[in-house]
Amino acid sequence: MAIDFLYPQYEVVRNYDRCIACRACERQCANEVHFYDPEFQKMQADESKCVACHRCVSLCPTRALKIVKTDHTFKENANWTGKAISEVYRQAGTGGVLLSSMGNPEPYPIYWDKILINASQVTNPSIDPLREPMETRTFLGKKPGKIERDADGNLVPNLSPQLELRVPVMFSAMSYGSISYNAHESLARAACALGTYYNTGEGGLHQDFYQYGPHTIVQVASGRFGVHKDYLEAGAAIEIKMGQGAKPGIGGHLPGHKVGPDISRTRMIPEGTDAISPAPHHDIYSIEDLRQLVFSLKEATAYKKPVLIKIAAVHNVAAIASGVARSGADIICIDGYRGGTGAAPTRIRDNVGIPIELALAAVDQRLRDEGIRDQISVVVGGSIRNAADLLKAIALGADACYIATSALLALGCHLCRTCQTGKCNWGIATQRPELVKRLNPDIGSQRLVNLVTAWDHELKEMMGGMGINSIEALRGNRLMLRGIGLSDRELSILGIKHAGE
Ligand code: SF4
Ligand code: SF4
Repeated sequence: MAIDFLYPQYEVVRNYDRCIACRACERQCANEVHFYDPEFQKMQADESKCVACHRCVSLCPTRALKIVKTDHTFKENANWTGKAISEVYRQAGTGGVLLSSMGNPEPYPIYWDKILINASQVTNPSIDPLREPMETRTFLGKKPGKIERDADGNLVPNLSPQLELRVPVMFSAMSYGSISYNAHESLARAACALGTYYNTGEGGLHQDFYQYGPHTIVQVASGRFGVHKDYLEAGAAIEIKMGQGAKPGIGGHLPGHKVGPDISRTRMIPEGTDAISPAPHHDIYSIEDLRQLVFSLKEATAYKKPVLIKIAAVHNVAAIASGVARSGADIICIDGYRGGTGAAPTRIRDNVGIPIELALAAVDQRLRDEGIRDQISVVVGGSIRNAADLLKAIALGADACYIATSALLALGCHLCRTCQTGKCNWGIATQRPELVKRLNPDIGSQRLVNLVTAWDHELKEMMGGMGINSIEALRGNRLMLRGIGLSDRELSILGIKHAGE
């Protein structure tokens, strides 16, 4: 009906002088944008289906294609933007909840970009990372409050199980189901090569990936999909997912059309059924309940594996973290409101939660104030975009960071934000075999290794410039940070001074 017509968001610009009608774009596009018109003997496009994933642009052999944003004719203003108007139309047409993927795109402040890093000058020498040792290895887990010695003066080993990271970066939870087999394999192999960890998310562990167990964090979420004894024992650590930055307060949803035979077996659910995990864990209503699950999991794995608890960054995150630290967990993972997802209700993704920078600073300070910082390691995620964000996070108090969107970008994601449709043309957020095979795990894992290696080089360079030679010395070193353009209140929560002070 005309009332619902929306002018397409993107336009396909085809240079017919260059187009040789090879139809590669038609074959590459799972959204069926391109087609050959026999009447006019040339390629045409149905632009209403284009999501700007740029697969066709990248693979066109003659560089004949360009995708541009349309200059649509909404009579918009600062309040009623084109996006706001079109969302009302879509909901009036369907009566449904709007779904989105990837992280919160709204123009809230990005605090990483308002924090500057110190460098040594004159009185405190910098360190040359090419010539002097620089340590970016880190260990996650409880640290002993004091060193114990026996009667002969020998050290008594009292260290809880630790995760050793050669670089302070891990791949965040992305389930098999929300992303493809080849994407999981790429992450797993990269984690092994880098000496770090990837995370199963709430989708269980495919039998082929048990071999990567020493570099795998297995997740236990409210749906308990794919959770069994062998699964718990396969991982290097177990993560209890209480919340996720993209959708705090609600559970996960994998649409039935993505649940094929392999996913069904791995998740232990019937084929073709929606995998909807409940919003809360139905056995957890207090920190005491959480503690029970932590110790059940430790008991089930003979107290050999650290337990992580993942929460979303919300208003009272510092108090929640204080409780989590007392639950017996070894590591707390905090996911900021920019954290990505394969599918989330748009309103929740864009309006619920708080920035990871503020959450991290508040949590680290609270744990220090209560004298329990050493009882738990802190890992943060939710849009860590580069090595500078990583360094700032560690200086604000993190032990390490989780990355996911950056990892997917390394695999070829073009941030078209339509993962929920299952038609990812880059073979990442899809289960369609013809699309999955487009992502080559040899290439994917190498690109992930390259990305994290590059960040590690940059991290060492920046640390050297600051006169710091270990993550240990950088962690929580807020004196090394200055804010710019921030209010007194923001600076006080971040625990940093303003530039010039
Ligand atoms: S891929 Fe390029 S050359 Fe081939 S049909 Fe499409 S636009 Fe034309
Ligand atoms: S993973 Fe695929 S579908 Fe999702 S945003 Fe990236 S390119 Fe688009």
